[in-house]
Amino acid sequence: MHALRIYEAEARSILSATTGFIAAAGFTHSLTPARNCTYGCTYCYVPTLGIYGGLKPDDWRNWGQFSTFKSNAASLLRRELRPQQVIYCSPLVDPYQPAEADARRMPAILEALAEHPPRAFTLQTRGPLILRDLDALVALAARTILRVSFSITTDREEIRRRYEPHCAPLADRWDTVRALNRAGIETYATLAPLLPCDPEALIGLAIGATTGDIIGDPLHTRVSKPRGATTREAALKISHASGFEAWHEPGFQDALVARMAQYARAAGRCFVTGTEGFSRLARVGCFAARS
Ligand code: SF4
Repeated sequence: MHALRIYEAEARSILSATTGFIAAAGFTHSLTPARNCTYGCTYCYVPTLGIYGGLKPDDWRNWGQFSTFKSNAASLLRRELRPQQVIYCSPLVDPYQPAEADARRMPAILEALAEHPPRAFTLQTRGPLILRDLDALVALAARTILRVSFSITTDREEIRRRYEPHCAPLADRWDTVRALNRAGIETYATLAPLLPCDPEALIGLAIGATTGDIIGDPLHTRVSKPRGATTREAALKISHASGFEAWHEPGFQDALVARMAQYARAAGRCFVTGTEGFSRLARVGCFAARS
């Protein structure tokens, strides 16, 4: 585990109106509990956004080396929550990043959400630490549409160590997906970004661990997306040094996605990418209170 520096700062607001890809998927707001993510994934798109989302130059130059938590997140949330909001947490940080183990901001945030439930709330994470808050998640799921989108990027542990060395081992992540599902939390396996893998083995694992549609996306490339967030240079260097350049090429990526979709279809399941895939996490209209 790398050394983590944790800071705190008061924020002026906690919910941001969405734009672009997140808005197109159906989310009305995003919730970002901290600036900079101590997972520090080599491919992370966030620091390539520059100052968007309140990031400061030190954040994108030293991505993953520290995190600044919003000290007043829960009290701001109590003021800003509204019943019709469809909230994504978070486009800019993993809410269960390693620093959250000490910072412990999510329990108060989940409590505020349960007190003033929005229409729907989706947690995007790759952190087994989420299980620390399982009771609070179960309580929140009784008050709103709660979804967890759990990121898993490959089926090969040596690839995981190369591209995301600070993330939990893959077996622990699948165990977490299964534990969330067993607890009744609507949990999706999100295979994104797709790192070098055995695509059939990876989607096979997702089919075995979940019951809903499987979401995925290849690595962002400048060829297919000339502007906005893209893959960090650190991952491009790893791919180049390892002979994995094809995983960044649109033609290879299309074939990869087609293979995975075909495998899912044959198993009676659906593999969805892009905005269509992401929109699975923002659907509303099917919630019935369980308490
Ligand atoms: S967990 Fe997500 S936000 Fe954090 S560094 Fe990795 S890709 Fe970026």
